[in-house]
Amino acid sequence: MSNYITTKWDVVVAGGGPAGFFAAIRCAELNPDLRILILEKSTQTLGKVLISGGGRCNVTHACFDPAQLITYYPRGGMALRGAFTRFQPLDTVKWFETHGVKLKTEADNRMFPITDSAKTIADILNFEAKNAGVKVHIGTTLQNVEKISKGGFRLEVRKGTEVLPLQTKKLLIATGSDSKTREIVRSLGHTIEEPVPSLFTFNVKDKRIDGLAGVAVENVTLKMDSLTQSGPMLITHWGLSGPAVLRLSAWGARVLFDKKYRSTLTVNWLGNYKLDATLEILQRNKNWTENARKKIATQPAFSQIPIRLWKQLTEFIGDKNWGDISKAELRKLAEELTAGQFEILGKGQFKEEFVTCGGVNLDEVDFKTMQSRITEDLFFAGEVLDIDGITGGFNFQSSWTTGWLAGSALANE
Ligand SMILES: Cc1cc2nc3c(=O)[nH]c(=O)nc-3n(C[C@H](O)[C@H](O)[C@H](O)COP(=O)(O)OP(=O)(O)OC[C@H]3O[C@@H](n4cnc5c(N)ncnc54)[C@H](O)[C@@H]3O)c2cc1C
Repeated sequence: MSNYITTKWDVVVAGGGPAGFFAAIRCAELNPDLRILILEKSTQTLGKVLISGGGRCNVTHACFDPAQLITYYPRGGMALRGAFTRFQPLDTVKWFETHGVKLKTEADNRMFPITDSAKTIADILNFEAKNAGVKVHIGTTLQNVEKISKGGFRLEVRKGTEVLPLQTKKLLIATGSDSKTREIVRSLGHTIEEPVPSLFTFNVKDKRIDGLAGVAVENVTLKMDSLTQSGPMLITHWGLSGPAVLRLSAWGARVLFDKKYRSTLTVNWLGNYKLDATLEILQRNKNWTENARKKIATQPAFSQIPIRLWKQLTEFIGDKNWGDISKAELRKLAEELTAGQFEILGKGQFKEEFVTCGGVNLDEVDFKTMQSRITEDLFFAGEVLDIDGITGGFNFQSSWTTGWLAGSALANE
């Protein structure tokens, strides 16, 4: 048998993603005497970081108030409340700056490295881990864990065709949404909330939006079941996307999964306009003598609706002038604008960011230390937990926060 990693370790981190790296670096910086090992099953570390944010890595979000920050997490917000008082986006910014990476804030408060390159983030994490003496083994999968009654764990690790034994005093599971590791976590006594996708676009086939790919509306309000979200929306080749849709997909991740991604979506193209107010504006347009002989299709009543979309939303009226529209048609138009019904036929992929909701039950973890309340010496960080945020840097932030807390606790012998 190879003598590769047969040594005993103080800390083994399963998963070479942002949560695992952040924890390992923090732990090593606090306690340089510890022997720390990161196991990464794929052939490169920090794979998701490298492809994140469209290759730019949306590191965090410029929201520095923990009470507000937690409102961006459909799952896990409450558990993160205290954690964010210990390590929040401001600390992330400082951490990266102290380690030589400056971040910038964009108009929508998303924060990126000034290089606009995700590689900058992966490089600094790899560099700092090495610098702090953390050992990293790629192509190495944690495949079994056995608790030792006197303390610590016996691990079974696979590298290629070899299966290697390994022992550690403490174990951090930071394996993201990996399904096989979830089984290991279950075997250690933990409950797993059923994983389902979050952050996706809606497939909608409807003649009102047909051929309008690329058309954006600055502020719509979307309703689905009891859920409501407002914000920009983008029409795509396959249906609907943009921040309002992604937020709704995150909050509705479980409902939509249960409904097999079929549901009715109500769209208010005018944001928060009420039916009566809209009807009044439409009536005024009709009464306006200058408008009487102008086509409804080419003379929009609302500047916030792009003309091509307006044309398709008003198509049911036909080629009429404003002066010729009936009361019933005016009302139907107001309904169309404030409560248009669209059928969601499936989910599409949001390429810039996607996450899994579900994971380790949060009641079973102490959020001061990220230690398991069930199995001693076992810790968790990152997406393996039942935490997920909306798009905008919130998912990495929960990895930085939980990784930092775990790393701090792991450093205490
Ligand atoms: C395309 C894309 C873009 C994204 N963009 C953003 C963004 O810009 N901003 C943002 O906030 N979030 C973004 N996210 C979400 C973000 O990437 C995740 O929330 C984050 O990576 C979670 O970090 P993690 O360390 O918990 O897990 P991961 O990054 O998934 O890392 C876990 C690691 O563990 C390894 N592993 C799994 N099982 C084992 C095992 N048994 N043994 C050893 N290793 C194992 C995996 O190979 C992986 O490398 C994006 C996600 C995707 C998919």
